[in-house]
Amino acid sequence: MRYSELVEVCEEIEATTKRLEMTDSLVKLFKKTPAELIDKVIYLIQGKIYPDFVGIKLGIAEKLAIKAISQAYGVDKNEVLRDFKRLGDLGTVAKELAAKRTQAVLASAPLTVERVHETLDEIARASGARSQEAKIGLLAGLLADATPKEAKFIVRTVTGKMRLGIADMTILDALAIAYTGEKENRKHIERAYNTSSDLGDVAKTLATSGLEGIKNYKIRVGRPIRMMLAQRLASADEILNKLGGEAACEWKYDGERIQIHKKGKEVILFSRRLENITEQYPDVCATVREHVQCNEAIIEGECVAVHPDTGELLPFQELMHRRRKYGVEDAAKKFPVSLFLFDVLYIDGEDLTQQEYIVRRKKLEEIVRCDERIRLTEMLRTSDLSEVERFFEHAIEAGCEGLILKALNGVYQAGARGWLWIKLKRSYQSKMVEPIDVVVVGAFHGRGRRSGSYGALLAAVYDKENDVFTTISKVGSGFKDEDLENLPKMLSPYEIEHVHPRVKSEIEADVWFTPSVVMEIIGDELTLSPVHTTAFGKIREGAGIAVRFPRFTGRWRFDKSPEDATTVEEIVEMYKSQLKKVE
Ligand code: ATP
Repeated sequence: MRYSELVEVCEEIEATTKRLEMTDSLVKLFKKTPAELIDKVIYLIQGKIYPDFVGIKLGIAEKLAIKAISQAYGVDKNEVLRDFKRLGDLGTVAKELAAKRTQAVLASAPLTVERVHETLDEIARASGARSQEAKIGLLAGLLADATPKEAKFIVRTVTGKMRLGIADMTILDALAIAYTGEKENRKHIERAYNTSSDLGDVAKTLATSGLEGIKNYKIRVGRPIRMMLAQRLASADEILNKLGGEAACEWKYDGERIQIHKKGKEVILFSRRLENITEQYPDVCATVREHVQCNEAIIEGECVAVHPDTGELLPFQELMHRRRKYGVEDAAKKFPVSLFLFDVLYIDGEDLTQQEYIVRRKKLEEIVRCDERIRLTEMLRTSDLSEVERFFEHAIEAGCEGLILKALNGVYQAGARGWLWIKLKRSYQSKMVEPIDVVVVGAFHGRGRRSGSYGALLAAVYDKENDVFTTISKVGSGFKDEDLENLPKMLSPYEIEHVHPRVKSEIEADVWFTPSVVMEIIGDELTLSPVHTTAFGKIREGAGIAVRFPRFTGRWRFDKSPEDATTVEEIVEMYKSQLKKVE
């Protein structure tokens, strides 16, 4: 298949912000794609070569790409750099330079999807002493044979700047239409996706075995299952009612969620963003090997930092010490963790996700030999409100964030934030009951003491229904000096020239970002606002919802993707429950 066919569609998608138009373009592309190539096509349009969990990533340095462009087109490096400064996008630079060499391109064979994928794979894998030269050579070779448009997308792909903003859900829609003729069938395809987190593999199954193949799609150890998440309500009373009067109350630990895949002696750990984080926790892997007594298993738990001397639970921030490339063994000794298991999804060939909570919990008890490093979460099964409240106080005292109440007969809803798990968190003095997670979409230059950094960030929440981000607040308080100093550097990789197509803003920021970085903020209350676009018109005509007196809590939520931010729906619920309390 010609790479140019894929590039044509990328151009179309780049030119639109409408999800339906994107879907149409994708359907057209999928229909043209041979079954054996559909996985590669899907990864490439998302700017990847593999699903994220595989951990083989592109993203070569701009400096390196500049060298490759200069080599491919026989242009001096400084000239490439000058063009880059002028145009702000290396892809466009490559496109312009390639356009001047049309003759050469006509002489060479057209690029195929296979060749592009294979070469990008080689670039990503090149390692060792002479890997830089190897990467430059490979990339230059590809660019030399590319048309101008192809060059643009190749450069954007290798530098990790593809950013077409195609959401997974849009691809699922397009797959359903292209292969089954009906969008209705997306639910089956989505289930398969939730089971494997691998859009390419799902698409290939669909293309080769049809809807039947998708309906039979099975869990496999080594492929992360998309995680089940919790809803929130403000009181224990409401939660118990919602869960039918009785529930399993579990402590909500303040750590990092881990999905553990065990196959014999091999253990793989996936983060909440489904990235492979096995290397960060060699101690957890060893504990699992020793204490989980079955051959194959997929289990979930919260990994919590504990005090090396007292065993007390420590806050989430302490896990930062583990986010390093070198010296992990040492860090593991100095900053120990305990694992609190709360679910099991698979044991020795048996998919348990459709079993009831109580059945899964019992199985989990059966396979884990507990000690101080690995045990099950504290759990109380009750229908008595005062018992729930006491249990909650205990959890808080022990350093937890609150409770998660779970439906006794609930299945494991992969990839969903449903009402089978409902969290109850500690309330703050202010009327805004709890912090929210927002995505940084823009920034405003600072003045005075803050000149050179940003004075405030423009924050947005996730509008799931429309798959966009809507602004909710301008956050300028709560930053420590070192936070402020780091802001420009931390955010620069996401900087773009215009407001991102998936961001809805009425406010003009000085700098715009691709929605990527998630931070936690708290405010005094939620108010109606004519300038913010969150839930616009949903409560009152001409107004959205905003956070009043917002401040950063100090927590960057590096473990969350932008789509994991607080949703508009949740904000509307919070706004309404706040009104109830005032009444
Ligand atoms: P928050 O922002 O409140 O930390 P979240 O958005 O990360 O929550 P939620 O769906 O709100 O995710 O809450 C579920 C998270 O709580 C899980 O992802 C997990 O990391 C954590 N957790 C702690 N204890 C438990 C438990 N006993 N059962 C399930 N999840 C738990």
